[in-house]
Amino acid sequence: MPPQPLDSTASADSISGMALFLDVDGCLIDLAERPEDVVVPAGLIGDLERLSTRIGGALALVSGRAIADLDRLFAPLSLPAAGQHGLEWRAAPAGPVERVPVDRTVLARLAAALADFATGKTGLRVEPKGAAVAIHYRQATALGPDVIAFAETLLAGTAGWHALAGKMVVEFKPDGVDKGSAVERFLALPPFAGRRPLAAGDDVTDEDAFAAALRHDGVALQVGDREPTVANRRLPDPAAMRDWIARLAASR
Ligand SMILES: [Mg+2]
Repeated sequence: MPPQPLDSTASADSISGMALFLDVDGCLIDLAERPEDVVVPAGLIGDLERLSTRIGGALALVSGRAIADLDRLFAPLSLPAAGQHGLEWRAAPAGPVERVPVDRTVLARLAAALADFATGKTGLRVEPKGAAVAIHYRQATALGPDVIAFAETLLAGTAGWHALAGKMVVEFKPDGVDKGSAVERFLALPPFAGRRPLAAGDDVTDEDAFAAALRHDGVALQVGDREPTVANRRLPDPAAMRDWIARLAASR
């Protein structure tokens, strides 16, 4: 069944018993040509802070970005967060960041191979992400099939790693770490434990978080119209997501 529209009135009534797991790019904020060019709209930071307080601090960011990058974007607000699709994890605001150990030799080999592949091809960009590495083709969309074919070849010789194809990007990361495992970790701990989860996101990497929320009888909220998805609720775009958050933050 396709995702149903999110009923904001009903959600405002039930939100106090929920835990929120929110993707950032393409969900809370609009995508930009380059990840460093995104804009966090005025008002969103205050709304997130009020909403977090309202639900006992059970609001976490679950992003492909590094947690340090999230802190910079949302300053002065610091939230519980999972970064780099679950490779980084922080249970408490401003608490210590835990990192999943990564085979640096494999990571360096993958990054070097991607850099070689991108050399001389206008519009491709390789982004080291600490414990993962991504190749972007948003500015060279015609090269998408070549990028994906190269990624498959590269992975065929790399045990224990996989690639996630997102919006105009392919990201390489170690197996067994994803946004779903991050959501599960949060749900085992206060203030998240015992609450009904809602996971929101726009991209294929959010499907793992959606599945985790649904395993706990929660809500999986797809932002946008990407298909297929396991999500059971939908909002059209990040502006609608921000409106929903603003209404919840202001409601009593
Ligand atoms: Mg996203």
